[in-house]
Amino acid sequence: MSFELPPLPYAKTAFGELISEATFNFHHGKHHNAYVTKTNDAIAGTDHEGKKLSEIIKASDGGLFNNAAQVWNHSFYWLCLSPEKKEMPAELKSRIETDFGSVEEFKAKFKAEAVGHFASGWAWLVLNGDKLEITSLHDADSPVAHDMKPLLTIDVWEHAYYLDYQNARPDYVAALLDNAIDWDFVAQNLDGEGVSRADQG
Ligand code: MN
Repeated sequence: MSFELPPLPYAKTAFGELISEATFNFHHGKHHNAYVTKTNDAIAGTDHEGKKLSEIIKASDGGLFNNAAQVWNHSFYWLCLSPEKKEMPAELKSRIETDFGSVEEFKAKFKAEAVGHFASGWAWLVLNGDKLEITSLHDADSPVAHDMKPLLTIDVWEHAYYLDYQNARPDYVAALLDNAIDWDFVAQNLDGEGVSRADQG
């Protein structure tokens, strides 16, 4: 029993210039795939074999933690994206307005967090208790390892945007947040329905 690279839920050409086919070839085909391979190599013959990815993340550190969390984060990230521009479902919109004031204020705060995060990591919208929060975590770290429920992420490692945006992380984050988020998936994560789709095993 080993983990597999999940197929992308859309064509690699579906996002046009927002995310190029070349980026998917490297980001999904090389980076994500390497994290899967390294996780499988690390758990072979250990007590971790047969466990869910989230269980391994919570029970590990060092190299295994980094690779397993990167597998989970990437599987979740692909599900957060939509090649069609989507409207925010009413319940999610209402929750965002309650906790951030407005959708625009939420987006501005999320962009600031993602752009301001130093070096490699991930920007997240999470449910912390009953409250929506924006945060960022370093390197492979994931809300799965903490007591936070992930709703949305944007990968801010340079490999996520360098081919299409070079060093312009603000343009990459704004392009995705304004045009390419699957808000239906984000809303499903409020009750954990979507989150389990990123958790293999
Ligand atoms: Mn990545």
